[in-house]
Amino acid sequence: MVPVRPGEIERTPPWTCCRAPPDCYTPQARWRAYGGNMRYWRWLGAGLLVALFSACRTIDLPAMDPSLPSLHVEDLLAPTASSATREIDRLNKALPRIPRHQREQRAAVVLRIAVLQTRRGNLRDAERLVRRSIGGHPSSRPRAIGLAWFVQHRIDMARDRPVAARGALESAARYTFGPAARRRIASARAALTPRVVRPAPTKSTTPVAIVRRGSWGSAAARPRAMVPMEAPDRITVHHSAMWTSPDLVTTCKLVRSFQRYHMNQLGWGDIGYHYLIDRTGKVIEGRELRWQGAHAGDGIANQRNIGICLLGNFQPGTKERVQRPSTKQLYSLELLVTSLSDMHGIPVASVFTHAEVHPKGPGATKCPGMYLTPFVRQLRSRGTQ
Ligand SMILES: [Zn+2]
Repeated sequence: MVPVRPGEIERTPPWTCCRAPPDCYTPQARWRAYGGNMRYWRWLGAGLLVALFSACRTIDLPAMDPSLPSLHVEDLLAPTASSATREIDRLNKALPRIPRHQREQRAAVVLRIAVLQTRRGNLRDAERLVRRSIGGHPSSRPRAIGLAWFVQHRIDMARDRPVAARGALESAARYTFGPAARRRIASARAALTPRVVRPAPTKSTTPVAIVRRGSWGSAAARPRAMVPMEAPDRITVHHSAMWTSPDLVTTCKLVRSFQRYHMNQLGWGDIGYHYLIDRTGKVIEGRELRWQGAHAGDGIANQRNIGICLLGNFQPGTKERVQRPSTKQLYSLELLVTSLSDMHGIPVASVFTHAEVHPKGPGATKCPGMYLTPFVRQLRSRGTQ
């Protein structure tokens, strides 16, 4: 050791850990000194473990299978590549194989199944899956909860429950999760927001005589259970699938029974169709045109869609007695379609049959039947000429 001369400050080695002060000043000696002290290695190891643990909690591990959906709104709402049933089977089989720590991946698969079940019309199953995603896991990520509420909104729309759908959408909006989801929420909100709609055809502007709601003894509608109609851009034609007589009293009774069924059994705000045409060609006013109808399937199919139902069963081969659309009915249908298309700027090429709007899956239909479908196609082809 170098002796300290009088008047000189004693120099202490900076490496207080050092066990061999005389050698401390060479790099090799410093390294030996560190290596010899296990305390530092322990701290380093503990730090690494903490970092690794928190990384596992905060970073999503890559998807087990890239073919599985991720927790992204466009992924969840993507069209089905093959069939919904096949995809649901595949996802149900994949679900138990996803490790527990991949919570986001599991939530994505469950929500995708819910979306597919909604499309198939299995709304109860879809709702059960969504409830599981929303309520079951308090530690779930906000993104998963937000998307679960978004899927719930689609189920409510399919059930024709606009008030509940609005609530679900508000819950979804409370969680911020990416521009794509925010865009989806904004457009869904816009669809639910009341807008000023061009007025429904009136007697003075429509060449077709219309039997107004008051004339057939309509019950009061429930506006809170309906969604305002956006500017209509298509028309869907239906048949009532029931043999019908031309008698006006019987017709009014029948229309009232439709309304009762739609409101009391199905919980809708009013009769589902905007117009009905009886056997004598009278056009009967159904749901007011300022409200979105409930006739074409789910809430999305009903958006901007005017529903016209011709009374009668035009599909042979059913239990119900069959009949052909009367000439007067066809004439009134053509007049009404032309009039609506003039008033609302709907191209005649956008007139569809119910079967064209809803061709597959549960709820798939042959409506408006074999005897009316060719007429609707013919009507439409005039618009494309
Ligand atoms: Zn139909």
